[in-house]
Amino acid sequence: MGGKKDVSEPVAGQAGRGGRKAAAAAAIAILLLAAAAYALHLMPGPQPGGNADLTKCGKAMGLISTALVRWSASKEPGAAYPDSLEDLSAAGFLERGPLSCPLGGRYVIEAGMSPDMPLGAVLVWEDGAAHRVEIEGRANRLVVHYVSCTARLHAFIQEIGPDGEEKAAGRLRARIDSLLSRQRRGGDLLKRARLDAAGTREEAAAVLRRGADPVECAFAACAAGYAGWGDLAPELAALASSGPMEPAEPHFSAAMALSRFGKPGGEKVLAAALGAEDYQVRKAAFEALRKAAGEDFGYAPFLPSGELAAAAARWAEWAGRAGR
Ligand SMILES: [Zn+2]
Repeated sequence: MGGKKDVSEPVAGQAGRGGRKAAAAAAIAILLLAAAAYALHLMPGPQPGGNADLTKCGKAMGLISTALVRWSASKEPGAAYPDSLEDLSAAGFLERGPLSCPLGGRYVIEAGMSPDMPLGAVLVWEDGAAHRVEIEGRANRLVVHYVSCTARLHAFIQEIGPDGEEKAAGRLRARIDSLLSRQRRGGDLLKRARLDAAGTREEAAAVLRRGADPVECAFAACAAGYAGWGDLAPELAALASSGPMEPAEPHFSAAMALSRFGKPGGEKVLAAALGAEDYQVRKAAFEALRKAAGEDFGYAPFLPSGELAAAAARWAEWAGRAGR
C-alpha cells in the first residue's frame, strides 16, 4: 500500500492550525484508522487452495475503504463523501484507481452519503458480481462485498442452493437493492431534518413508533439527533434498549441521539460498542459515554485488545448501575 507517507498528508494541514500535541494525536488517530482499514485487505482471509477471486476483490475494496477514511479525515466533520469513486481517485486518495473488481464487477458509491450516516449503511457495493468461494471449509458460498459508512468492508454471504448459482446471485443482488432503497428513504428524512424542513419531526416520530424497519429507524434516530428533537427521547430510549444490532445499527443511532440531547437511555448500547471492531465506532461511543459520566475508567479506543476488554467491562458495569 502507499504507506505512512500518503496518510500523513491530511495531518500536515492540521499541524499548521493546531498545537503540536493536537497534531500528534490526530496523526496517531489517522494512522490507527489507516491501519484498521489496511487490515481489512486481509478480510476475509484467503483459504488454503482457493478463493483468489475473493482476495483480489477484497483488496480492491480495502483500498477504497482506506481512501474513504483518508477523504473524511481531510474534510470538516459531517462533509459528504464524493458522489463518484472517480472523484476519490481524481483527488489523489485512490492511487491506480481500483474502480472495478478484477473479475469484472464495477464498484459503485451511493450518492449523498457522509461519515455520520447510521452505522452499517451501505456506502460502496459491487454492481453485478458475486464470487463463489469457500469459507470456513464450506465450498459453494457466494459473496458480494460492500463498504459501510464507517468505511469497513463487509460481505453479504449466501449459500448456493440446489437451484444453482444464478438464482443465489440474484437473491444477493435483491438483498442489496432492498437495503439501498430503504436507505434512500431514510437518507431523505435525514437530509430534510438537517435543513430543518417542516413536517420531518412527525415523520421521524412515526417511523420510530412503528419500529418496523431497522434501516429507516436508524436514519430517523440520526435525524432526531441532528435536528435536536429532544421530545422524541422516550421513543429513542425504547429503540436503544431493544432488539439485535442489525443491519444499520438503529440502537447505536438512537443512543448517539440521546447523548446529543444529554438524556439517559443509551448507556448500555454505548458501553457494548466500546468493544466494537471498528475504531470509529469505539471512539464515538467512548466520547458519548465520557460526556455522560465525566470520567474515562481507563478506556481509550486505541488500547490493545486485552486492556480494551477490561476497560470496556468497567464501562459495562457503570452502564448497569446507571440502570436505565
Ligand atoms: Zn468482486
